[in-house]
This record gives sequence, C-alpha cells and structure tokens, in this order.
Amino acid sequence: MQNALVAALDIGGTKIAGALVDGAGRILVRAQRPTPAREDGATVMRAVELVFDELIASPLWAEVQAVGIGSAGPVDASLGTVSPVNIPGWRGYPLVEHVRGITGGLPVELIGDGVAITAAEHWQGAAQGYDNALCMVVSTGVGGGLVLGGKLHPGPTGNAGHIGHISVDLDGDPCPCGARGCVERIASGPNIARRAIDGGWQPGPDGDTSATAVAAAARAGHPVALASFERAAQALAAAVAATATLVEVEIAVIGGGVAKSGDILFAPLRRALREYATLSFVQDLVVVPAMTGTDAGLVGAAAAALRVEDRVVRAGA
Ligand SMILES: [Zn+2]
Repeated sequence: MQNALVAALDIGGTKIAGALVDGAGRILVRAQRPTPAREDGATVMRAVELVFDELIASPLWAEVQAVGIGSAGPVDASLGTVSPVNIPGWRGYPLVEHVRGITGGLPVELIGDGVAITAAEHWQGAAQGYDNALCMVVSTGVGGGLVLGGKLHPGPTGNAGHIGHISVDLDGDPCPCGARGCVERIASGPNIARRAIDGGWQPGPDGDTSATAVAAAARAGHPVALASFERAAQALAAAVAATATLVEVEIAVIGGGVAKSGDILFAPLRRALREYATLSFVQDLVVVPAMTGTDAGLVGAAAAALRVEDRVVRAGA
C-alpha cells in the first residue's frame, strides 16, 4: 500500500482539483481548474478532462492503479452518477463512466465530499485511531460522514452522514432541500451571518458580512454576533448528540471555514453538547477541530481509491 499510486479528484462548486497520491497520502502531482458551474454538463466535464490531461502527462501516471472521486452531493455511488446541488448541468450525470473512459478503464471509486473528508480525517487527521467517528464540515454548507466499526461508512449510495440535512427544529425555517429546521439552515456560515445581520449586527468599514467577520465581532464581545454563534453551536450539538446516541461515535471532528472560528464555536458547542448528549454512553463524546486542511477532499478521495486498489489486488491474487 505504501508504494501504491492513485489519482484523486475533488469536485466542488468552485474548483475541480486533481492529484496523484501515494499510499502514504502524499500528494505528488496536482492539477486544478475552476468549475464552470453555470455551464452545461459537457462543459463541466471538459474541465475534468483538462485536469486529467495534466495528471496523465506526468511520468508517474503509468503507475496509477485506481481513481478516487469525492464530489459535492448528492452522489449515487451505486450508479456512478452525481447531481451536485451547485452544478445544475450535472443531474444524474454518469461521471464514473466518463472518468473510466478518460483513464483507460481504471477502477473508479466515487464518494460524496463529506465522506471524502471523513476518510481523510480517519486516515491522517483527528479521527486517526478511532473506530467510531463523526466528521463534519461546517462552511457554506454543512456536510459530514461516518466511520463505524473501524471502517468508512459511505452507505449504499455514498451519502451516509449527511448531517447538514437532519432537522433539529421541527417547525423551523424551510431549507432549500425541502425539509424544515435543518442543521445547515441554522449553522452554516451564510446562516450565521444572516442571523447576525437580522439581529442588528453591522459589518465594519470593510463591509465584510461573512461568518468570519461575525466571529471577529463575537470575539470582541458583540452580543448579537455571540448569540448567532451560540445558536449555530446549539444546532450542531443537537445533531452531534443525536448521531452519537444512534450509532455510538466516540469523537466528532469538525472542520470547514466556520470551525476556524475556534473557541467562538467550540466553547458553546461543548456546553450545548452536555445538554443534548445525556445518556451514559455518550457523555464522554469529544468534539475536536479537524486537522486536515484544504487537501482533505483529495486525500479522502485517494483513501477511497486505495481501498478499491486493495480489492483489485486481492481479487487478482
Ligand atoms: Zn435541509
């Protein structure tokens, strides 16, 4: 496995990143293109092809044994299709088939981006050594994934751990997904900012109305900014506690832009967790910041591909 080489692809609404990654998780070659998210499906696929053109041009390509794809969701790993919410040109798009075509028939493993980040945290980050973990990304959206019984748990279609769209507020605001009171509707960066603005918080002279600016105001003691983070933390705590109560995770790892606010988020989150994670078997649950950074999607996709490669090697043995 140390010597294995795989190609990894990370597909998001703003960029399509690719890499060649070795069995130790080192990124050896990189390629990246902006996602033409508003264009038709073929144009988006063309950007993926350009990323692969660069990877295939590397002398290392001959050693690549499998491809891992982590994509914005929903995905359907059983069909090999993706329908990323923020890439409307791709609906039920047969990405796996196309990538297999580009790469000369290499095995391709597709997982959702939340599952990919979970794979990265389990392999190299804060969830290392834990057999049961919930990993989350709190950013423009809220995503996540699960490690259960020592293994990544993508679920039948690759979407398990979609914690951003479980409801923690029965009569709450409608969510774009169609449900109400979803975690994402309360705890995502844009919703933290929106709630602060609705409450009367005003940005500084730079006009920055992001969650990062709200976090800075909270750090300076602004009560509305603090309250907005408290509310987000409460929603996250309820969701983490529900997950832990259902499947007994021992650790919740939280990454993404909003998690970078540090104690502004984690202090109220840990407080609120004590109110929601009440049964004996979840009281020791720990919540920590993620360790993998912007490459988490690529590293996680590589982890998925390495599992595929493992299977192929075993099947051939
Ligand atoms: Zn939702």
